[in-house]
Amino acid sequence: MENLDNVIYDNEVYVEFMSDSVNEGLARMVVSAFALPLNPSLEEMADLKTAVSEAVTNAIIHAYMEKEGIIKMRLGRKNSDIFIDVIDEGCGIKDIKKAMEPLFTTRDDIDRSGMGFAFMEAFTDRLDVESEVGKGTVIHMQKAISDKE
Ligand code: ATP
Ligand code: MG
Repeated sequence: MENLDNVIYDNEVYVEFMSDSVNEGLARMVVSAFALPLNPSLEEMADLKTAVSEAVTNAIIHAYMEKEGIIKMRLGRKNSDIFIDVIDEGCGIKDIKKAMEPLFTTRDDIDRSGMGFAFMEAFTDRLDVESEVGKGTVIHMQKAISDKE
């Protein structure tokens, strides 16, 4: 995996918030505001917000099982690329490959459809997942914003 720490960003923002579902909206707003200077299309903006809210929802529901926890989000910009890391220190993922399969969910009981990772993959240009059981999970995403001029 590309070491994102080797990227020297043109801009970088770091936010930390409680794993409460009200903060899903905050995370969506932060990524929108961060991407705005690149003049993204409405579709690109919607894609970024969806990808972020899927990752944040997963941290709230799965990583922390709706109990108190801290979610960190790091946003970087390099030229017209947006880099997003969503980090939790929750339960971790036992089998990442399986978790990323469309329709795979461990929470049938609460009506999850198992499409979160599929959306993150579809709405960004790159999705990498690092996770350790008992330690937590880091979701890395990257998306290029098109040059419309
Ligand atoms: P949906 O996103 O459609 O509501 P889902 O959350 O179950 O359903 P995915 O987002 O694709 O589907 O995630 C698949 C599975 O991966 C989850 O059911 C969960 O077991 C695991 N998972 C995802 N993110 C995390 C995380 N941050 N920590 C621990 N487990 C996770
Ligand atoms: Mg999900």
